[in-house]
Amino acid sequence: MKVLLAEDARFARHLLQGALAGWGYEVILAEDGEQAWRAMQGPDAPSIALLDWMMPGLDGLQVCRKVREAAREPYTYIILLTGRDRQEDVVEGLAAGADDYLRKPFDNLELEARIRTGRRIVELHGQLIAAREALREQATTDPLTGLANRRTILETLGKELERCRRSDTACAVVFVDLDHFKQVNDTHGHSVGDEVLRQAASTMRLILRPYDLVGRYGGEEFVVVLAGCDTAGARAAAERLRASVAGTAIAVGGLVLRVTCSLGIAVGDSGTGWDRDRLLNAADAALYRAKRAGRNRIVVAGEDEEAAASTVEAKPAGPAPASRRRGPRPG
Ligand code: GH3
Ligand code: MG
Ligand code: MG
Ligand code: MG
Repeated sequence: MKVLLAEDARFARHLLQGALAGWGYEVILAEDGEQAWRAMQGPDAPSIALLDWMMPGLDGLQVCRKVREAAREPYTYIILLTGRDRQEDVVEGLAAGADDYLRKPFDNLELEARIRTGRRIVELHGQLIAAREALREQATTDPLTGLANRRTILETLGKELERCRRSDTACAVVFVDLDHFKQVNDTHGHSVGDEVLRQAASTMRLILRPYDLVGRYGGEEFVVVLAGCDTAGARAAAERLRASVAGTAIAVGGLVLRVTCSLGIAVGDSGTGWDRDRLLNAADAALYRAKRAGRNRIVVAGEDEEAAASTVEAKPAGPAPASRRRGPRPG
């Protein structure tokens, strides 16, 4: 574990450096407060800092305040070292954000024990962060595909629409539904179906830009949010998605499968407004039209709907798929 030692007195610094190294710590040295503050930036900064109070430039207390203000993670455990010994000084040091305080001259055994305490706190804090991040991951992503889950989609879409409304830019919502997916399960089993979902998801992720959101809305249904994208842009992105899903040979358990998808697009702009639920419904309705019109195609709400409807009239391909749910979706 790294320990920062900030001490302006050369001899004291030298002695402490030797002791810390002897206890197995990797020592980072600073000769003044500015150097100490610099050493405490960056992702690989030491988690434990021994700060002398009296130093040129920034003193230990000022460094302490800056560190607490920055509130970086993981936590920095700070022990102040000082010649001051009035009670008010102790209080002031702790109020500045120090975790502990040692009056000079101190006993090395005591310092070692106090650093061990700091180490324990830093390790516990690291475990807390890891647990929190795991929870965050669980709460925001879909475990099967690793994409954003429905909750994240809804939250992000709401925020993006608000941002687009304020800057008066378009925002496209695309519903993507795999075609006849039930047949994949029925023919090859659920675990093959799962693998197809995973690979279709990663195909979509690859084809989109890093800042486009793609998430699994539920079952074999995905939602893509294209902020700043007008109808023409959304149509082009949707066509790339459609073509790449249809063109991907999915290898699973010795089989090579192909799936297609249908897409419904709704664009929020100054004409249509930026209401989240209205756009989701419009994109879903457009998707339904794409299914009815023969699948493996794109329908844009308000634009292609008549064309899609007339395709169905001209080429009645049997009854509408009973499989396409129209009711409320499972959560
Ligand atoms: P359509 O072209 O009309 O969309 O037909 P479809 O068969 O894809 O639609 P339907 O809604 O009838 O079936 C969706 C299927 O998706 C049914 C369900 O078993 C399957 N499915 C949903 N979630 C999962 C999942 O997590 N894993 C697997 N393997 N299958 C899933
Ligand atoms: Mg000093
Ligand atoms: Mg489907
Ligand atoms: Mg579906």
